[in-house]
This record gives sequence, structure tokens and C-alpha cells, in this order.
Amino acid sequence: MTVRIPDGLLVLETKADVKVWRQAQRAAGHTIGFVPTMGYLHEGHLSLIRMATERSEVVLASIFVNPTQFAPNEDLDAYPRDIEGDLRKARSAGCAAVFLPSVSEMYSEDAQTSIHAGALAKGLCGESRPSHFSGVCTVVAKLLNIVGCDLAVFGQKDYQQLAIIRRMVQDLDIPVEILAGPIVRESDGLALSSRNAYLSKEHRREALSLSEGLAQARSAWQKGERSAGTLRQAVADVIKTRPSAEIDYIQVVDAVSLEPIEVDCAGDALIALAVRFGATRLIDNTVLEV
Ligand code: AMP
Repeated sequence: MTVRIPDGLLVLETKADVKVWRQAQRAAGHTIGFVPTMGYLHEGHLSLIRMATERSEVVLASIFVNPTQFAPNEDLDAYPRDIEGDLRKARSAGCAAVFLPSVSEMYSEDAQTSIHAGALAKGLCGESRPSHFSGVCTVVAKLLNIVGCDLAVFGQKDYQQLAIIRRMVQDLDIPVEILAGPIVRESDGLALSSRNAYLSKEHRREALSLSEGLAQARSAWQKGERSAGTLRQAVADVIKTRPSAEIDYIQVVDAVSLEPIEVDCAGDALIALAVRFGATRLIDNTVLEV
């Protein structure tokens, strides 16, 4: 057993440790909630942990920077890490245990199987990150199998990821309930993200244009605007005023199918975007409900 116990929190480093923990929880009659993360925890993650504690008797979070969801040119090696801080925060938000596996614990060198994400993974982030969601699905499926939880909580910040995971759980009959937590933002509107740590002061200021642009579109929507092109333009107009902003995409899509809306929005719509500031790629979104 490789278990450390800072402040009563169980730190589980192997799949075998998680199995022993799960069996003890099951023997005690506890339901298990699970929050997968890549660490460098912030209030967004902690809100999901708190949500899990409200809906299950014990909560386990995982911290694993999953290499298979990063392309070779992406920020895997630079991804921010602060394990000690994460353990403290996870504990204070109500976690009973944290699963902290190594890459070799998660992936054997001769692994051959991965999950193919379908149509939901094609557009939005899937366009510039074609292998990303296959990596996400594979690691999430593995984690769900390892943890054997009753429910797992994901953030709407990664709206496309959430939709793909719900679909995977349905398509593969994975016996777990998926819950969604709303986007947690800084007081000025910037969506919390571990990657915000990369931003220079200047880029941090300019990044505010993401939530400002989305707010403009939301206010147009509330006044009755339904043209996808006009709503998209409202967001773009704000973001393009920031000199460093390089738009990867801004799209208005059906909130369920994630298919682009060509003309007018008839049902619930999602405006999703990804924008680069220097080397930092940020995402944000808002759901426009009828
Ligand atoms: P990550 O560590 O970035 O892989 O995120 C782990 C989980 O936290 C995912 O389900 C994310 O959607 C969620 N998450 C990240 N940022 C936020 C946020 N600002 N508000 C709510 N959930 C978030």
C-alpha cells in the first residue's frame, strides 16, 4: 500500500490502493462520488468536489495530467502543478481521498485499446485538437472503472467534453451518473482555469474579452436576437478589439447535438470559443436557453 495521510486525507497512488479503499467504502455502505481533474486546483474544481459531497457519502478526486489528451506540440510538460496545495484544497472542499497515479500506473507500455469519440468530438475544440477527446474518453473510462463510483461530476466550462462523456457513458453502458457543475468565474468574469496561471498581466487583461463578448451575445439573445451570425459577431467584435487575441474559433451550435446553427437558433444554443493569448489557449462558453 502506498498511502500517505496529510490531515486525514488518503492519498492513493495505485489502482490496487483505490480498490482497497472502494471495498472499504462499499462495506461501510457508502455511496461514492468522483471528480476527475488534472490538478492545480481552483474554485472551479472545488465547486465540483462540493457538489459531489452533497450527492454522495464519500468523495474521491483524481489528479492526473493525462498525456494521451495532449498533442506533441501542446503544453503537457509545462502544465502547472502544485500537489501539496492541491491536497490541502481537496481536503478542505470535502474529499476523503485523492487518487494520484503515475503515468506508468495508468498506462502499460503495451496498451492497445482506446476509445473513439464520435460526431460530438468533430467540431469546436475537436477541429484543432483532433486526438484530444479520444484521449479524454479513454482516461475517463479507465478512471470510472478504477474508482467504481456512483456518480462523477464534470464542469460545464468544458461543455463539449461533458457532452462527449455523457454520450460515452450512455453508449458504453457505464454504470455511473454524470452530474454537471456551472462555470465558476473570477469576480471580473474570467472563467477559472489552471491555464490562467500562464497569462501575463497584459494577456490576463485582454482575456477578459472572452466573458465580455459572451455577455454581449447573451444580452442580445435576451432582447430576442436569434441570428447565429449576429450572435457570433457580437462576441467576435469584443474579442477582436484586443491586440493579442488570436481566435481559434467562435461558434454558435445546437446545445445538444453541437452541430453549427447555420441561420437562426430555434432551440437552446451554445456559444463556445477558444482564443489564444500568446502560447495560452483559453476556452469559454455560454448556454442560451429558449
Ligand atoms: P481540468 O483539471 O482542467 O481537467 O478540469 C477538471 C474538471 O474541472 C473538468 O470537469 C472541468 O470542466 C472542471 N472545471 C475546470 N474549470 C472550471 C470552472 N471554471 N468552473 C467549473 N468547472 C471547471
